[in-house]
Amino acid sequence: MFAGRMMDYPLTLTHFLERARTYHARCEIVTQNPDRTCSRATYADLHRRAAKLAHALTRLGVGPGDRVATLSWNHARHLELYLAVPAMGAVLHTLNLRLHPNELAYIAAHAEDKVVVVDRSLLPLFRKFAPQVRCIRRVIVIGDDGPVDSDGLDYEALLAPEPDHVDFPRLDERSAAMVCYTSGTTGNPKGVVYSHRSLVLHTLVSCMHDTLGFRDRDVVLPVVPMFHAAAWGLPYSAVATGARIVLPGPHLDPASLLDLMARERVTFAAGVPTIWLGILALLDEHPERWDLSAMRAMVIGGAAAPPALIDGFLSRHGLVVTHAWGMTETNPLGTVAHVRSTLDLDAAASLDTRASQGYAVPFIEQRHVGPDDRPLPWDGATMGELEVRGPWVAASYLGGEGEDRFTKDGWFKTGDVVTIDADGYMRIADRTKDVIKSGGEWISSVAIENALMSHPAVLEAAVFAARHPTWGERPLAAVVLRQGQTASKDELCAHLEPRFAKYWLPDDFLFLDRIPRTSTGKFLKSKLRDEFGDLLEKRASG
Ligand code: AMP
Repeated sequence: MFAGRMMDYPLTLTHFLERARTYHARCEIVTQNPDRTCSRATYADLHRRAAKLAHALTRLGVGPGDRVATLSWNHARHLELYLAVPAMGAVLHTLNLRLHPNELAYIAAHAEDKVVVVDRSLLPLFRKFAPQVRCIRRVIVIGDDGPVDSDGLDYEALLAPEPDHVDFPRLDERSAAMVCYTSGTTGNPKGVVYSHRSLVLHTLVSCMHDTLGFRDRDVVLPVVPMFHAAAWGLPYSAVATGARIVLPGPHLDPASLLDLMARERVTFAAGVPTIWLGILALLDEHPERWDLSAMRAMVIGGAAAPPALIDGFLSRHGLVVTHAWGMTETNPLGTVAHVRSTLDLDAAASLDTRASQGYAVPFIEQRHVGPDDRPLPWDGATMGELEVRGPWVAASYLGGEGEDRFTKDGWFKTGDVVTIDADGYMRIADRTKDVIKSGGEWISSVAIENALMSHPAVLEAAVFAARHPTWGERPLAAVVLRQGQTASKDELCAHLEPRFAKYWLPDDFLFLDRIPRTSTGKFLKSKLRDEFGDLLEKRASG
């Protein structure tokens, strides 16, 4: 045994905050305000204000392990909370402002939130659930316009008298830094506790070149909300590398985002496919309006990015999409569709690979298993449930719920049905709860959706299971057409026919104005099933 060993230096977010002040003090944080003006601060301000915030929260009685919740859009003060709360040893809990008040009440009580920091514009929502949550002791309101009513403290007034220096405590890297809740559409949301260590390792691996590759010259725009899975770690990656960060506030429509990207010379943006579908449609309409020449990567994740979207950005606008997969339970990054240089693919195969969900990033392991829990072959065809493990994969949920998701040998069952090919590229066919089983055979709704969205008239498509008297289930397609475009059911069927076995073709196409969305902007198939799931049965009976 060697006597020498390395230092036991804790992997904590505090280091990123200190580093930002030491080396990236002049780096800018840009916030788009509700009135569309932009506020600018620096990482030196971030450090100074995080110190003041830590003092203020301590004065309010927040101690180690206490939960401080936020109900906020993406803005500079939310970033302060992202750093200051974990650095002082407390735990940040980001509440999803798109949830129903009853769900918010459940989550805030479940997480035992002690202090809640709320954007002034979200106070009406907060008041709808706060009275039901007994554990909330203090409310702090963010907003510049006018005094706060008697039940809240003003964020700026709270910070003003505090010293702008603090010696953050030396924390155990395994201590909790953040709690995020799953956006489960069935059952109660479950809390996932991110530790300092998991967030730091996730950040370091995210910054690797073939992962997301952040650099100090990047200008990072998290379109993904800071209330969803730590905004995919982007705030921490930006602070760690000294990249400029642009926070869009509440304006998430395609035109506002494109204005912001062009004006701030954004190099890196990330969000769910529904956002990017809208952006691509607008860019197609006005190809010359926005100068996006600074953009080096647009990360799409959270739901499957259709190949037509990836190809459309590249071939028509010269914009590169990086497709990634992750979950709240995985901090969230798990896989990235990076095309390895040794693969030597032609253009079509390269697009196919970039449209896959990719392969596991360093320190994440992936496998897929059959109903008997045995690992399946990596042949690109056999479907099974994806399991992952690694240092930023949840080992349990807060409160010990959902035990069946964690296997005895240390894997997390993702609930995604996938294939994995010989090179390790994973392709999602469905969520287990969304799979369509027709006459005992699995049909991949994602594959049909991707094909439908490659039709020039189709803006969005969601394929879901409808009950069927003979086959058990059959696929139905909900389709939103592009403005001013038409396509008949026969045309859409003809578009699909060459690509799929006959039994995969949807029994019907429903033309909708909008596909319902989850609180994180994904297609909400359970709502489609609730509304149209009995359509075929009704037709059969009469
Ligand atoms: P959430 O915890 O809300 O982020 O949801 C995680 C789930 O989103 C995963 O289990 C997948 O079903 C889905 N998801 C995330 N990224 C992708 C992707 N790139 N392609 C398809 N589905 C995805």
